[in-house]
Amino acid sequence: MNVIENAVNGQRYISKSTRRGAVFNPATGEQTAELPLSTIDELNAAVAAAKAAQPAWGDTPPAKRARVMFRFLELLNQNADAIANAISAEHGKTHEDALGELARGIEVVEFSCGIPHLLKGEYSRNVGPAIDTYADRQPLGVVAGITPFNFPAMVPMWMYPMAIACGNAFILKPSERDPSAAMIAFDLFKQAGLPDGIFNIVHGDKEAVDTILDHPDIKAVSFVGSTPIAEYVYQRGTKAGKRVQALGGAKNHMIVMPDADMDQAANALMGAGYGSAGERCMAISVAVPVGDETADRLVAALKPKVEALKIGPASDASAEMGPLITQQAQERVLGYIDAGEKAGASLVVDGRGFKLQGYENGYFVGGTLFDHVTPDMSIYRDEIFGPVLSVVRTQNFDEAVELIHGHEYGNGTAIFTRDGDTARAFADKIEVGMVGINVPIPVPVAYHSFGGWKRSLFGDHSIYGPEGVHFYTRLKTVTARWPSGVKEGAVFTFPA
Ligand code: NAD
Repeated sequence: MNVIENAVNGQRYISKSTRRGAVFNPATGEQTAELPLSTIDELNAAVAAAKAAQPAWGDTPPAKRARVMFRFLELLNQNADAIANAISAEHGKTHEDALGELARGIEVVEFSCGIPHLLKGEYSRNVGPAIDTYADRQPLGVVAGITPFNFPAMVPMWMYPMAIACGNAFILKPSERDPSAAMIAFDLFKQAGLPDGIFNIVHGDKEAVDTILDHPDIKAVSFVGSTPIAEYVYQRGTKAGKRVQALGGAKNHMIVMPDADMDQAANALMGAGYGSAGERCMAISVAVPVGDETADRLVAALKPKVEALKIGPASDASAEMGPLITQQAQERVLGYIDAGEKAGASLVVDGRGFKLQGYENGYFVGGTLFDHVTPDMSIYRDEIFGPVLSVVRTQNFDEAVELIHGHEYGNGTAIFTRDGDTARAFADKIEVGMVGINVPIPVPVAYHSFGGWKRSLFGDHSIYGPEGVHFYTRLKTVTARWPSGVKEGAVFTFPA
């Protein structure tokens, strides 16, 4: 059985841990690897290696650090297929979807190649007699990232390219479910000339996470995952004196106004609701048509499309979505469909019986569509993280906005309309971090920053982009007097 290695101080090695997790192929249900859950000593050794390597990397001129990033970028592009295959084998998403996720991660690497420019500071001449002030941003030291299963290449890339370009050393604790894509990135970064100890990967579970959160030599932690764990990570990490950004779960609503182009809206909902089997933090899981006539037209447009979804393993090039990540995830999603039906929602398309010949043990769930969902139902309140779309009918725009405001999450949202006034009012007032106008999944490009509001993000910084530079650096402001010969007696008040 293949055993997943750690990668520390430039070397891969097999953890000595006796505790082991299992990695599966979600399309077949077969175990493909064992994943040792690293010991506390192994994590401490990784931090020590990172701490020893970081000062020289932090002192390396940003332009030279950028050259390593450029080489890494080239290698990522050359090896995109291999990385996408590793993603699909362990996550189950289609090859095209895996390439798409990787492309969005690579965009962050592209952005980080501009680090000399991004770290340019501010300078004020003559703030006082012969006194100048300059401010620049310095690396924090050793920083860490803890990532979820659903984007095994992209989400780590929201973190480590930015952190490393800024001059930090990085410890990545990937998801236990699909660890291999990150390992390929480690090899490529080393090949690109990154010094040993600057990028380290240590696999593990809660024990590894807690060790990261408590470790005095780790100065900042980026987390992406479910909201209960995000909140825990934020609280424990900040209590230990760290800077923490913890991105959590979501329930993203898409309002469909009566004037929307219905074909466009229905197609957008198909991709945003069922792409990657709904396992995306920016998936749309609630459609909010305004007016019963709009709702009837929307459901009529969606029903045949959901029934016709092509579901299959990543090896099937025509598949539009794959299986869920684990058997537990599959059972959880099936349980939500049962609960929605029991609660009285109309089950327009039922994905429960889905079976694929030759893949009977895969974790597949068919596309599911509910109508007449109400806010008290668990299928509305909870993040299902599966191919289940709920339609909640509202009578007017204000009611639709109130619905969104009543939900605990505030990651992404969208509105489909042809009316500029409505769209502008929506973008202006909605209490959600990322807003799409006739764009169903408004994930910001790499030179903006990604982050939700409310219980979708704990901490003060969004991730990557300009906010990423701020998160992974601290500001230093120097006030200097030259020539030092300018004479002045002792001053006991504030200088005028
Ligand atoms: P998860 O919270 O189960 O796991 C995320 C990470 O936390 C993993 O590395 C895991 O090992 C670790 N972890 C799990 N349980 C822990 C515990 N008790 N204590 C400490 N650490 C623990 O999330 P997941 O199932 O891998 O990913 C899906 C979730 O991630 C969804 O809720 C999704 O919305 C969210 N997500 C959010 C974003 C975003 O940008 N807001 C992006 C992607 C995924």
